[in-house]
Amino acid sequence: MQKISMTTPLVEMDGDEMTRILWQMIKDELLLPFIDLKTEYYDLGLAHRDETDDRVTAEAAEAIQKYGVGVKCATITPNAARVEEYRLKQMWKSPNGTIRAILDGTVFRSPILVKGIEPYVKSWNKPITIARHAYGDVYKASEMKIPGEGLCELVYTSADGEVSRTPIHTFKGPGIIQGMHNLNDSIENFARCCFTYALDTKQDLWFATKDTISKQYDHTFKDVFADIYENEYRKAFEEAGLTYFYTLIDDAVARVVKSEGGFIWACKNYDGDVMSDLVATAFGSLAMMTSVLVSPDGKYEYEAAHGTVQRHYYQYREGKETSTNPVATIFAWSGALRKRGELDSNPELEAFADRLEKATLDTIEAGQMTKDLALITTLKAPETLTSEGFIGAIKKRLQA
Ligand code: NAP
Ligand code: MG
Repeated sequence: MQKISMTTPLVEMDGDEMTRILWQMIKDELLLPFIDLKTEYYDLGLAHRDETDDRVTAEAAEAIQKYGVGVKCATITPNAARVEEYRLKQMWKSPNGTIRAILDGTVFRSPILVKGIEPYVKSWNKPITIARHAYGDVYKASEMKIPGEGLCELVYTSADGEVSRTPIHTFKGPGIIQGMHNLNDSIENFARCCFTYALDTKQDLWFATKDTISKQYDHTFKDVFADIYENEYRKAFEEAGLTYFYTLIDDAVARVVKSEGGFIWACKNYDGDVMSDLVATAFGSLAMMTSVLVSPDGKYEYEAAHGTVQRHYYQYREGKETSTNPVATIFAWSGALRKRGELDSNPELEAFADRLEKATLDTIEAGQMTKDLALITTLKAPETLTSEGFIGAIKKRLQA
């Protein structure tokens, strides 16, 4: 059989624990037999990050800037226990945080829908993609406990020494305050990422804040989105038959639940944190969520939304059978291959990505799945397979 060729490499970022095992199986069984796979390989496994003083993470991000498309395996974000377990030189930062900071991107999370795994909300028959702004607000806030009577103010001192003040509250007794910020640049980048990704995936874009109450802060988000839409994207949206829709966050929540899905919901940092877990759970399974980081200048990094599945890895190391779901990791590969095909005008590669996804979903719909799905499926008498068995079943369909 003639293998599909590639012209430009994908940036491949290997990772940790159970997902590292799945990564190799996916390559060996589902990719290498069919594609003349070209990748530039970066080992983001924790041991290698430690060896390179985490330079490998920055180098991988720079390679994504160069080539435009990357695919990443889940990685350990070290905590105190991991520092001991891997005898690390230091508690290295989250690789995802490092890559996101270098690409200045926005993360889009979408569920993979398949017959037999039904969303809790009956009307949702298309995916809802959450775009979370990943800078500032309460995540970079300063806070204080106010011990008693006194005045709290916001004070701004300009670079040339001019001072302006706004009262927050005159306290009569103890209380609390919080000061948070955001940057016009960051909000603009967020808006451009969202509009670009909406056009790219041909979906409407929703955005919501609480601008009626927060007349400066949230209203700035609303205005930035509106200006960028009018000046840079309205024409392309109209030509593509897409809409940009702004509403209040409480109205958005009500509409989302009554919707059929099929749109991108852009959220401020905190809203995105909360709503992405709500949407992921309501769609059925964390193991079926994909994630793509998109930079404002159109670079893409694909991965699964879940972690390294540590508990399964420890069983694997003891020689026990595991039934870990590889679907989100397979879709990270198919997403990256499709994007690479699109950018390189390589329709065969794009078609392969479609076939890989179809083979995966057909396997589940035929009743063959991993344990996490077998536990929640509405299909009668599902067959529970090991990780290897499931990947093998997908391979059979792919070959056929
Ligand atoms: P996790 O790896 O997402 O797993 C949490 C639990 O969810 C698992 O124990 C498993 O439940 C279930 N699960 C998740 N993915 C699954 C899959 N593909 N198939 C079957 N079940 C799945 O989260 P964690 O255990 O909290 O974190 C482990 C490590 O991952 C941490 O070191 C963390 O830093 C890292 N992490 C990395 C990323 C990333 O790179 N993007 C994201 C999150 C976490 P059962 O045990 O009940 O079967
Ligand atoms: Mg959260």
